[in-house]
Amino acid sequence: MLLVYMIPQPVGQSRDLEREAVRSEARASADLLSPGVRLRTAPRVLGSVQNKHQVIEAAEGFVAWGYAFLLFQEEASVQALIDACIEEDGKLYLCVSSPTIKDKPVQIRPWNLNDSDFVMDGSQPLDPRKTIFVGGVPRPLRAVELAMIMNRLYGGVCYAGIDTDPELKYPKGAGRVAFSNQQSYIAAISARFVQLQHNDIDKRVEVKPYVLDDQMCDECQGARCGSKFAPFFCASVTCLQYYCEYCWASIHSRAGREFHKPLVKEGGDRPRHVSFRWS
Ligand SMILES: [Zn+2]
Ligand SMILES: [Zn+2]
Repeated sequence: MLLVYMIPQPVGQSRDLEREAVRSEARASADLLSPGVRLRTAPRVLGSVQNKHQVIEAAEGFVAWGYAFLLFQEEASVQALIDACIEEDGKLYLCVSSPTIKDKPVQIRPWNLNDSDFVMDGSQPLDPRKTIFVGGVPRPLRAVELAMIMNRLYGGVCYAGIDTDPELKYPKGAGRVAFSNQQSYIAAISARFVQLQHNDIDKRVEVKPYVLDDQMCDECQGARCGSKFAPFFCASVTCLQYYCEYCWASIHSRAGREFHKPLVKEGGDRPRHVSFRWS
C-alpha cells in the first residue's frame, strides 16, 4: 500500500482543470514506479499540478519509501484529489494504474489544519511548566485524539497540540499536552512511555517535560549566572526546576540527586538528554 501525504498551499487555478490534472498526475506517478530510483526524503513539490516533471520527482518518492509527500500550491487541488477518492472505513483511497499494475489503491492522508490544536478546558491558563512533549506521535493522530488519550490516562488535560512543519503545515510526528494540575503532569512524565491507542493506532510513544529555553534559574533567579536563561531542566520529581550551570552543580552535589540528568531544549521541540560535565 502506498501512502500519499498531501499539504495544501495557497495560490489559484480552476477547480475542474485541477481535478483532471490531479487524476492524470496520479497516473503519471504510478507509471513511473520501477526499482533502482535513488532515495529521497524531502517532500516533492507540485508547483503546478500540470507540471509532469515535478510529478516524476514525486513518483521517485513513492518508489524509494512506499510513500510520498505531495505539496500542492492550492488548497482546492487537495480538495479535488479528496473528491476523486473512494472512502472506506474512514480512509481515503485513490486508484492509480501503471503498465504492470492496474487500479492500485493508494491511500491519501490529507491533514486538516484545524486538527493541529485542541483546547479541552479553556478556563485554565496554559502553563508551559505543566506541559509535556510527546515524541513519535503517529501521523494520522489529531490533537483532539491526543487530548482524549492523555486525559483518559492522567486526567486534567487542558490543551493538546500536534507539531506541524512551519512551512508545510503537515504533522512532524510530535505533540504537546498541557495539564491543569501538577499531579497529572508528574504522573505523565514519570511514566516516560505511553501506549497511544486509538482506532487502529496502537503505538508506544515517549513522554518528556516540555523544556523551554527562556526560563530563569529557579534557584538563583539569575543572580549567580549573570541573568542568563537557564540552560538545564531537571525532570526528576524531587527537582522539577530550571537551573543555571552553577546551581545545577551545587544542588546536584547533594546526596540522592547526583544521578539526575539535565534536559535541554534542542532544535525547537525535541528535548534530549545530555551528559553534564562537572567542572
Ligand atoms: Zn542559578
Ligand atoms: Zn535534579
